[in-house]
Amino acid sequence: MGLIPETTIQEIRDRADILGLVGRYVDLKQAGHNSWKGLCPFHDEKTPSFNVNPGRQAYYCFGCQAKGDVLSFLVDHENLTFPEAVRTLAADLGIVIPESDSGDRSDTEKIFAALEVAQQCYREALQSPEGQIAREYLEHRGLDAEVIDRFQIGYAPDAWDTVVRALERAKVPADVGMLSGLLNERASGGHYDRLRGRVIFPIQDVRGRVIAFGGRALGADQEPKYLNTPETPVYHKRRTFYGFPHALEPIRRAGRAIVCEGYFDAIALARAGVGEAVATCGTALTSDHARDLSRRTSSLGLLFDGDSAGKKAMERALEILLPAGLRVRAVSLPDGQDPDDFLNARGPKDLVALVDRAPDALEVVIRRAVAAGCSTPAEKSDAVRRVAPLVASIPDPVERSEYARRLALFVSADVAAVESVVRSVRGGKSIPANPRVAASSSESKPVSGDNYAPISDSEARHLRQLAMILSRHPELANAALVEEMHEALPNCALKDLVFAFVDAGAEGHVDAEGRVDILAMKERVSSELAAMAYEVVMDESFFANETPGWEVLTQILRRFVLRKLDAEQKIIRRRLDDPDEDQGKAVEDLQALLVRRRAHGATGLDTGL
Ligand SMILES: [Zn+2]
Repeated sequence: MGLIPETTIQEIRDRADILGLVGRYVDLKQAGHNSWKGLCPFHDEKTPSFNVNPGRQAYYCFGCQAKGDVLSFLVDHENLTFPEAVRTLAADLGIVIPESDSGDRSDTEKIFAALEVAQQCYREALQSPEGQIAREYLEHRGLDAEVIDRFQIGYAPDAWDTVVRALERAKVPADVGMLSGLLNERASGGHYDRLRGRVIFPIQDVRGRVIAFGGRALGADQEPKYLNTPETPVYHKRRTFYGFPHALEPIRRAGRAIVCEGYFDAIALARAGVGEAVATCGTALTSDHARDLSRRTSSLGLLFDGDSAGKKAMERALEILLPAGLRVRAVSLPDGQDPDDFLNARGPKDLVALVDRAPDALEVVIRRAVAAGCSTPAEKSDAVRRVAPLVASIPDPVERSEYARRLALFVSADVAAVESVVRSVRGGKSIPANPRVAASSSESKPVSGDNYAPISDSEARHLRQLAMILSRHPELANAALVEEMHEALPNCALKDLVFAFVDAGAEGHVDAEGRVDILAMKERVSSELAAMAYEVVMDESFFANETPGWEVLTQILRRFVLRKLDAEQKIIRRRLDDPDEDQGKAVEDLQALLVRRRAHGATGLDTGL
């Protein structure tokens, strides 16, 4: 893309009114002198955990860890590309963006324009005389004019140059048609339409803009049955759901989403009044899909074919969905039927009932494992081991143990034995934390890095304070202090955070007031650390304490040093009691240690933290 100068982006970040912008979407209430709170626009919640700090020009959600600045808010909430977000805000603020080169500035815009031309063209073709074959097909599938209109369904005539000519008429260059995935290049030169002789389903982003097309073959021997336009700068399969813009409001209302495999499935459900249905676009569910859904609902129905491929697909989907904290139900149709058939045969009421009464998906998997044979001890063990990874991936401990209990019950195995299998599976592999659960436990247990020894609450509090002070005064971290912190701070994620601030400061990632630029942190550290960084700087209780940074910093560090020396002293005393140790050396070490203690001003009353 055409490069937007970094200084312009910075100017936009500095000048944009984050309260005004976020306030358009979120009802914000003042919560502190520099802190505003509201219900998070990125996840469902009843009590506000979404914080905006206008001083920092940043937002952070303690519930789902959504975080960033005005630009990332537009990117994540409005589904804009970064350059689009920059241009949108620049226009609001009257900032002129110097165009270094025109080339790519509008690549995305050109693609959207080309897709729009194609969309018009497909829509018109469906209504034209040559579109009769497609109209008949849609009628046969039970789609009436109203539904066709609602889903903007079109037709790609069985010709090589329908879109080629439409783009020409609209003065869209063929290379943009290629970039948009609409055209292919001929070996002999020139271009031809990618989608031909197909019913066309426009695939839209959350804002309702067409980003791609899916085409269903009309000829009996036409392969493949479904053909999509390829991935482009605006279309990423792994993040896209067919029907998402239409489904957003119904998802909110129904408190759930239904995921199915095909365009016709999603449309059939919508026809039956289940508007919260979406479909993947020719790909399996991905973790991006799961995250996107979990921001909007915690309850999900999966509608897959009842055949063995569909059953496998469902289990694979659960592997993706359960770790995201989603509660999943399995909607299963009578064998061989798709939602269309079912709807046309049985009517909307029965289809809705089927969705509403869908059983818990994990329980379905457990039953299947049991049905596969579960009488001998070996078979029981196999069944447990087959399902345990799914159970172990559930982030909520209460739900997880409940499923472990049910698994034991169904298999008629010992509950403690099944729980221990689940625990060992869970311990053995890293399972992404559930944002909801992580949030609720983050205040009391901020440092649960897997490889770290646990630290006490007061240690955690002091480490957070260190991190906060260094985020505001990174210049305090001189070489001696850095070395002392390396030595004295217990290894834990909060120590990593302290040093992330120190490093960011040392590398000059600071804002106008000399504080570490929280946005720079986001790009430099793991998302877990970035989330902690936001929590630290957004927490107003720290700001309330106006003790000079250096004084508090050294006090806290001194406690950690003394605590570490205490621990070392204990080890030396043990050596003094051990006849196998070199006593002379132990005494020497003890004296050296006492000197160090005195150097840190230990009075004998200090007992560490
Ligand atoms: Zn949130």
